[in-house]
Amino acid sequence: MWYRGAQCCLCTHRMLSSVVNACAGIGRLGVGKSLHGAVLRFGHGCNDVIAVALVDMYSKCGFYEYSRKVFDMIEQPSVICYTSIIVAAAKYGIGRCALTLFNEMIDRNMQPNSVTLLGVMHACSHSGLVDTGLHLLQFMQRKYGISPCASHYTCAVDMLGQAGRLDEAFELANKVQAEDRDALILWSSLLSACRTHRRLDLATRAGHRVSEFNQDVAGALVVMSNAYTSAGQTDNAVDVWSNMRQQGIRKDPGCSWIEIKDIPYVFYAGLVSPAGTRADEVMMLLDELEGKMREKGYNGRLGSTRVFDAHEEDGEDGKGVMVGVHSEMLALGFGLLVIPKGMTIRVMKNLRMCCDCHDGFKLISGIMEREFVVRDLNRFHHFRMGSCSCNDYW
Ligand SMILES: [Zn+2]
Ligand SMILES: [Zn+2]
Repeated sequence: MWYRGAQCCLCTHRMLSSVVNACAGIGRLGVGKSLHGAVLRFGHGCNDVIAVALVDMYSKCGFYEYSRKVFDMIEQPSVICYTSIIVAAAKYGIGRCALTLFNEMIDRNMQPNSVTLLGVMHACSHSGLVDTGLHLLQFMQRKYGISPCASHYTCAVDMLGQAGRLDEAFELANKVQAEDRDALILWSSLLSACRTHRRLDLATRAGHRVSEFNQDVAGALVVMSNAYTSAGQTDNAVDVWSNMRQQGIRKDPGCSWIEIKDIPYVFYAGLVSPAGTRADEVMMLLDELEGKMREKGYNGRLGSTRVFDAHEEDGEDGKGVMVGVHSEMLALGFGLLVIPKGMTIRVMKNLRMCCDCHDGFKLISGIMEREFVVRDLNRFHHFRMGSCSCNDYW
């Protein structure tokens, strides 16, 4: 219970910010908003720690504009405040906005820290501002006295990979001295980029590097398997998948969730929908939409029999979910049924969105004249009028 005139403001601030942080972690906007109300009512709105937690909470719930409002209310934003709004802008793919905030901070003679610079680099990465990001990496020591660490290099490798500059990305990746966990992230992200840009030669090399690690390699191996599938090398894809099974490597099941009237509904790919989510109506709606999407040239797969790509999201040893609609699509279908027209549908996902769903969401936003925001593992996608805020750069 909080009350005006509490004895220890520091404890109150810490408690409030940690509760707001908890809401951010699980994307519970409804609870987060109530907490924001409490923060204002009890006069803690000016506190830096709480403001940063609110900026972060709104951004993780897909409301960058609210994050920005909270930030704009801070009279004298500190480096931490700037960093949090820059990181938020980066996640939302508005790189130029993040750069403007960064320049504003520098003009105020503030010294960025390592996280600020990483945020700016992520912003460049998610907006295709590759050369700006690389320039920052090259000059961060000289200009700001900060030596780039493994995270900065990983971001640069990812940036080059997303832009399709894979040979440069490989050259840089080979030079990076990263420890286990960082190295795994670095090679996994490079592997994803190789798959996206259909460079099977480099995907195989990156896949070998990933398989040298003993932990959390399932996601990367699935990408490897899918890279072989995309290249028509089904036998190799089967090999990767069989090795995973033999070694007992399992992938976390993909799930998506949507909040309706403060209640979260969680969906798993191809599995029975949670109670109250009108599964039959959702499937009928998705079927109908799939037909309209095909007329517009959609050639992805919403729920057809999938052999290997299904493994991206499967739950039970790859069995029983071969005919499965991805979890974000189920959440979207339910959202379309219950969220009134004119309101944005917000979906959260624990993994990256796949290309088929991304294309599907774009088309459905045009067909239904609706707006959707998806928060996936990496970033936000804001779909409207048939396109996405990421401009397919993700
Ligand atoms: Zn998908
Ligand atoms: Zn997108």
